Amino acid sequence: MSNTDFVLAVEDLTVSFDGFKAVDKLNMYIDKNELRVVIGPNGAGKTTVLDLICGKTKSSSGSIKFKNRELTKLSEHEIVRAGVGRKFQTPSIYENLSVYQNLEVSYPKGRGVFGSLFFKRNEAVVAQVHKIAREIMMEDILNTEAALLSHGQKQWLEIGMLLMQEPELLMLDEPVAGMSAKERDQTAELLNRICQNRSVIVIEHDMEFVKKIAHKVTVLHQGKILAEGAMDKVQANEKVIEVYLGH
Ligand code: ADP
Ligand code: MG
Repeated sequence: MSNTDFVLAVEDLTVSFDGFKAVDKLNMYIDKNELRVVIGPNGAGKTTVLDLICGKTKSSSGSIKFKNRELTKLSEHEIVRAGVGRKFQTPSIYENLSVYQNLEVSYPKGRGVFGSLFFKRNEAVVAQVHKIAREIMMEDILNTEAALLSHGQKQWLEIGMLLMQEPELLMLDEPVAGMSAKERDQTAELLNRICQNRSVIVIEHDMEFVKKIAHKVTVLHQGKILAEGAMDKVQANEKVIEVYLGH
């Protein structure tokens, strides 16, 4: 495919595990500042798609272009540096560090050309920590030890740690699992804010939550796209009701 304006262009992406195609010739295109939600039954291949994009799993064939750059040949580390952030289902925060310290350690190493002017770098780090803490609704608890946070706050902190790197594509796997109704609403608002500056892919089962955030929905089934489009269209799709929403 020639150059495109899509932030992410996935084409003919396939991965087989011992002959079983968990993702099967998938095509998916994500716009700048788009918030896409991927839904589908357990085992549909949703998590595997994120694993392929972030380089955790290597594809069998097909291509993944991020800002026109082929990702399938890059290491996980190179993909992060290219601007792709990925949140796993269980948060990987440092429980014994404060909120502030968790954000601070996530500041990209080697950013900027500050040379030996350490104080310059420190100023930039402090400013970035405060900016992100505000975004994740935690600026007033920067000194709290992460172990003492609620389940929802831990999830937000991990999102904040990813935001410290200013990814242009952020991927979240079931971010509101286990959250209270209020935390779900706050997470929806958070995601609506953060997709103003970047593209976001969210895997989620909670349809009330999906309705609050999705620009478009992709329904995955047996490694293939069953339906894609606006939430109301997808919800009314008979195939989708049959394999997923009807249960
Ligand atoms: P979902 O996230 O939609 O529930 P997954 O992407 O986790 O589904 O899994 C899709 C299918 O691929 C499942 O049948 C799962 O068992 C299989 N699978 C995922 N990762 C691997 C792996 N590393 N090795 C073998 N099979 C896998
Ligand atoms: Mg999954």
